[in-house]
Amino acid sequence: MTIDLDNLAQEMAGWRRDLHAHPEFGFEEARTSAFVAGKLREFGLDEVVTGVGRTGVVGTLKRGGGNRAIALRADMDALRIPEQGEAPYRSRNPGVMHACGHDGHTAMLLGAAKLLAAEGGFYGTVRFLFQPAEEWGRGALAMLDDGLLERFPFAEIYGLHNAPGLAVGRFETRAGAIMSAEDNFEIVLRGVGGHAARPHVGRETLVAACALVMSLQSIVSRRLSPAEIAVVSVTELITDGTRNALPGEARIRGDARSFSPQVSADIEEQMRAIADGIARAYAVEPSVTYTREFVPLLNDPALTEEALGAARALLGAENVSVVSEPFTGSEDFARFLDHVPGCFAFLGNGDSAPLHNPRYDFDDAGLIHGARFHAGIVRRRLPAA
Ligand SMILES: [Zn+2]
Ligand SMILES: [Zn+2]
Repeated sequence: MTIDLDNLAQEMAGWRRDLHAHPEFGFEEARTSAFVAGKLREFGLDEVVTGVGRTGVVGTLKRGGGNRAIALRADMDALRIPEQGEAPYRSRNPGVMHACGHDGHTAMLLGAAKLLAAEGGFYGTVRFLFQPAEEWGRGALAMLDDGLLERFPFAEIYGLHNAPGLAVGRFETRAGAIMSAEDNFEIVLRGVGGHAARPHVGRETLVAACALVMSLQSIVSRRLSPAEIAVVSVTELITDGTRNALPGEARIRGDARSFSPQVSADIEEQMRAIADGIARAYAVEPSVTYTREFVPLLNDPALTEEALGAARALLGAENVSVVSEPFTGSEDFARFLDHVPGCFAFLGNGDSAPLHNPRYDFDDAGLIHGARFHAGIVRRRLPAA
């Protein structure tokens, strides 16, 4: 059965607006995952499993007897941002909104499922992954920890994100690093607080913390290769001092971005060495906590060529480009690519407000391109004949 694409586009816009009106925060996507599972069952998928990684959903569609499987992934979560838009379908959930377009990503993957279930045109297995909690950087790991790869094996994975500022119908990606790692750090310096008039009898921590903040700036400028891209940002300095009392404790927090696991490891090592050295110089005790919230997103070169080829066939070569530089934003899709090769790409969202802005909205005109890309890469990678 052939699906009428205009009807599908309208139907997807209806789903998208429904999801937009009912946004849910990460791991709270109860209504959204029920909506997704209901649609997948209605399309006649072979298997629909809910509760994968708490609120995740996995749909499976098989055609022919081949045992090759590829996965398509969408994210379902919204953000704790009060919406300022005036659309009739604006958020009915106070303080929460779809400010990153995950409502659109979910709707277009549902559209692809409907298209592929009705039309086939491939030979093998497609896994439709609807992941929770992308914004936290926790949902992909939750699905992986829940046995995703053992229970629903696949050999390749593809994902899309909308891109404000890129015209609707345009497609961009690149091989290798495309989104950064996000590491968080906290350094606590402990000394002995005391009277502001008598610093020499205590071991106050504020001057040491200021020296440490300045020295951390040398990691990127003096310690990493100039050919690497990285950012180390100190965002908070908190002490327990008051106007006439020197602090006995100072806490520095911040965020580091990079594009390779080695650079992330180097930043941590340098940070620990600098914190130790400064602490020794000022006779205070350091403690460093360094965590990896998002890993860098590294696209497989061969499968990126396949994704570009599928996009050119659908959108025309003039609407498909290879971006020259990676972005310093982060994406939870990277966790899947730690295990299985694949490609993450951007699809134009036109002249919308930026992502995570209270006036952002997904452009429904992009839905059909997303659904057709998902179906196109399946048919290219799992050819029917
Ligand atoms: Zn986001
Ligand atoms: Zn997003």
